[in-house]
Amino acid sequence: MSTPDEKIVREIRLNPIVPSESVLVATARSMRPKKAEEPAPRDTRSHVDTCPFCTGNEHMTPPVIAAYPDDKNWNIRIVENLYPVLGDDRSNPNLSFGLQQTIDGYGRHEVMIDHNKHGIAIHEMSEEHLALLFRAYRERMDQLYRSNSRLRYVLAFKNFGPAAGASIAHTHSQLIAMPVIPDNVQTEVANSRAFYHKNHRCIFCSLIDEALTFEATIYDRESGEIRRKIGVGQYIVERGKKFIAIKPFASRYEWELHILPLTHQSDFLRISPDDFADLARVMRRTMARLDAVLGGVQYNFFLHSLPHDVNCEDCDASYHWHIEITPRTSIPTGFELGSGLFVNTVAPEAAAEKLRAIQLD
Ligand SMILES: [Zn+2]
Ligand SMILES: [Zn+2]
Ligand SMILES: [Zn+2]
Repeated sequence: MSTPDEKIVREIRLNPIVPSESVLVATARSMRPKKAEEPAPRDTRSHVDTCPFCTGNEHMTPPVIAAYPDDKNWNIRIVENLYPVLGDDRSNPNLSFGLQQTIDGYGRHEVMIDHNKHGIAIHEMSEEHLALLFRAYRERMDQLYRSNSRLRYVLAFKNFGPAAGASIAHTHSQLIAMPVIPDNVQTEVANSRAFYHKNHRCIFCSLIDEALTFEATIYDRESGEIRRKIGVGQYIVERGKKFIAIKPFASRYEWELHILPLTHQSDFLRISPDDFADLARVMRRTMARLDAVLGGVQYNFFLHSLPHDVNCEDCDASYHWHIEITPRTSIPTGFELGSGLFVNTVAPEAAAEKLRAIQLD
């Protein structure tokens, strides 16, 4: 597939919300040594006798916290994580010393078994099921926030495939309720608030508007040659009635996509029950596009929403919840770890065009 955008791009693109997460977009072949080896074939089996998350093996997991529609005939099942990264045991007293400061690893860690079919991918699930999955996210996040005032942030995320760090092949998500607000969420909140003070607008809404309504041509001052063309919808991969999937201009990962509500909303917990169906549709179609282009996609996704106890009057107006999808097609190099600058070898414009070109039913 050749696209007009496949001319060589080499530039540093600033992330408008988190400037420290900038990206070197470098599509020249010489920048391609980090191409990951062929992804391991996905485990597509529907049932695995030895899998603790498969039906019939419910006794192999910690006790159930919630199940949909019910515990006997579950389609989605939530249990405590057997190996929590944060827990509520009090076995570790605070051992801060000098510059070695610690925060108690207090928290909750839950596993959501996304489907009773072992190896099913998101794009293979029905939209009804996906809508139920997002409703389950909302309900568990809400419960966790209410369960203890020491919990300051609930992060919902999913790892799919070994390249994305999934240790159990059975499709699942995780919810981690933590005693601190993650730094990247805090930075997003602070920077979008600063933008709001200056421009009286939400930066996420502004980005959506740019993607939907901007058209521009940038010419070279001397030669008059075209340097860049920005087309309407160039960064849009999927558009629903209520949600949109956008390819960020400064994408850290080659196939990174963000899903946002079209109407401003700061807190995922305030999503209207009527909106789950459209979110499910946009998510399923977006994942189907990624899967078709990448030939089996291994990815992480995570949900960023306004933290609950931020004492901030205008954060409701300035912050906008979203889902970030980060397919894993390469592993970070020493340059990236050393510089903090991500290298993206596929021009986001070309990636968006490829994803859009996939014909879906
Ligand atoms: Zn399984
Ligand atoms: Zn907004
Ligand atoms: Zn975010």
